[in-house]
Amino acid sequence: MRIGKILDNKGVSFEFFPPKTQKDQDILLDTAKNLETYKPLFVSVTYGAGGSTISYTKEVVLRLKNELKLNVMAHLTCISHTKEELFDILSFYKNHNIDNILALRGDMPKDGKNIGCNHGFDLVKLIKTHFDDDFCIGVACYPEGHPESPNMEWEMKYFKYKVDQGASFAISQMFFDNTYFYEFLELCEKANINIPIIPGIMPITNFKQISKFASMCGATIPHSITSALENLNEEDVFKKGVEFAIKQCENLIKNGIKHLHFYTLNKSKATLDILKSINFS
Ligand code: FAD
Repeated sequence: MRIGKILDNKGVSFEFFPPKTQKDQDILLDTAKNLETYKPLFVSVTYGAGGSTISYTKEVVLRLKNELKLNVMAHLTCISHTKEELFDILSFYKNHNIDNILALRGDMPKDGKNIGCNHGFDLVKLIKTHFDDDFCIGVACYPEGHPESPNMEWEMKYFKYKVDQGASFAISQMFFDNTYFYEFLELCEKANINIPIIPGIMPITNFKQISKFASMCGATIPHSITSALENLNEEDVFKKGVEFAIKQCENLIKNGIKHLHFYTLNKSKATLDILKSINFS
């Protein structure tokens, strides 16, 4: 089912990464089954920028679709693939009736060399040109700006350009202060960007790990959260992190947001605790 066509409905979605072993994939399927109670509009499966996870991404995408009958979106990064490789991957998804692709550039390879497209918009354009009837295209967006963007003016200019190539919706990078998201929505409105922008929610279940992710992708963790979490034990971080995420989601819902996308890290407990509490399905 094309995600662009169902975003008028209120709902949730979940992101997973593709485990490499059959055993871990089975565990992921159990996680997805637990989350299925909340009838996700879609689930998505990430992709390694260097192409390192392609076979696992394909496998997990098909297992979630065929075994759990979920509406699945495959992430695809273009920076390290030739056009021919991208055609092959997209043809695979087309032949297996996967309707949704999250079109991404991927992080720059450490050696600075890229053989594929330079930007996310190139992949959107490629899909639109060669697979227009086959996929609904989503893109990434960055409420605090992408780390490579010098300022928000730059960010919005190229985000609009990417959207104008044919994206039907965008999913945001994690953020922990909703003000950034609301300001971003205002900037989108001013820029005449009219596609649905879905907030990406990352519950802080492990302070060290999430702080590292956040600093890598330029997401600010407010001092109020850092100071409340930094000296707690693992169990209390989990509890407090879930509490923060509940407040964050409640505030988003109160402000009219109809859709929440959870970065699950392949675990269901935090997301389930949040969903139980906010009563949103
Ligand atoms: P782009 O849209 O190309 O933007 C990257 C930078 O280039 C920005 O600063 C932008 O302003 C600038 N830019 C864009 N167009 C131009 C232009 N024409 N001229 C000059 N500058 C330009 N990574 C993975 O490896 N696998 C995943 O599965 C994955 N999933 C993600 C899911 C979400 C929801 C998000 C938010 C990110 C995800 N990422 C993933 C991370 C993503 O690959 C990185 O953030 C990457 O660095 C940028 O990808 P992009 O498609 O947003 O890039």
